[in-house]
Amino acid sequence: MMTDSLQFPFPDPPAVGQPIAVADGVYWLRMALPLALDHINLYLLEADDGWYVVDTGMALDATKEAWEQVFHGFMQGKPLLGVIVTHMHPDHVGLAGWLCERFKAPLMMSQAEYFAARCYSVPPAEVSWATKDFFHSIGMDEAFIDTLKRRMRGFGAMMSPMPGSYQRLQDGEQLSLGKHNWRVMMGSGHSPEHACLYNEALGVLLSGDQVIAGITSNVSVMATEPEANPLEAWLASHHRFMQLPADTLVCPAHNRPFTGLHLRLQQLLDHHEERMLALEEVCVEPKGVLELLPVMFGRELNEGVITMAIGECLSHLHLLMKRQRIARERGDGNVYRYRSIASDLPGRATGDHRPDNINLMV
Ligand SMILES: [Zn+2]
Repeated sequence: MMTDSLQFPFPDPPAVGQPIAVADGVYWLRMALPLALDHINLYLLEADDGWYVVDTGMALDATKEAWEQVFHGFMQGKPLLGVIVTHMHPDHVGLAGWLCERFKAPLMMSQAEYFAARCYSVPPAEVSWATKDFFHSIGMDEAFIDTLKRRMRGFGAMMSPMPGSYQRLQDGEQLSLGKHNWRVMMGSGHSPEHACLYNEALGVLLSGDQVIAGITSNVSVMATEPEANPLEAWLASHHRFMQLPADTLVCPAHNRPFTGLHLRLQQLLDHHEERMLALEEVCVEPKGVLELLPVMFGRELNEGVITMAIGECLSHLHLLMKRQRIARERGDGNVYRYRSIASDLPGRATGDHRPDNINLMV
């Protein structure tokens, strides 16, 4: 049965360096982020002879200092035995290299996320013609194209050097991590092969950015794969996570742990369907992506989030094309214009379910 509201059993987030227990042998730790989204949650899993950690924080001096406090305080000088990273984004993988090096501990990641993180941490020397074409097709001007090189460098600056080897996580695999066994559950859409950990006995899901309360994770088409359809994978993942018990305690990478998994997944499914409907209705007259951003977000977007906003808008348009609800053609200046082609447009878009945040870099 679906509850009608999310419940947050731990009202107060942990103070820096002071993890709090959320289940037997599972501890919630927070690190600061210098973003609009100002924190990330990490989880420490207890073992007899040390600890496992899920996600790491960004490679910042302040985060390393907070980690030192945890090593010497909460962890009682016991080592990290393994560093599990849900996905490649720098707030999650940022300090993986630093932690693995310090404890000579293995990095545990899915294959796609590991290689993506290694790739993005070292940007290409030049902006390729394909990348420029991608942004021209959206209608971005030369002033924006000139910023791409700087933008591509940003990722690596938030990461310590990646470990040169890793232990591969695969969907459905059982991991024995200290006191408990955890099942790896992959999601996709926010990043290519995002690992979550589910513990059936405890009823706990460490969900990373796959399921979060209060904010919607960014689901973007990016220049590296201009024809991608990540929203289809994202929605399919939500249906798979719906199979977990309704009373699962969801421990996400941002905001507070909660119960009400099925309700939250349904809210997210509804949110994306609603945004697609709104796009379809406005595309009765052909529109370019930049004209569609106010339809998607309904607010001013600053320079820092514009590529994520474009990527999110495209992910909705690409799924609509796959569903044969929208077609695109190149118009003036080689810019793509999107046009509704379905004959049954019902006028149902309500304006509900607008995203209250674009999830910055998460
Ligand atoms: Zn992320």
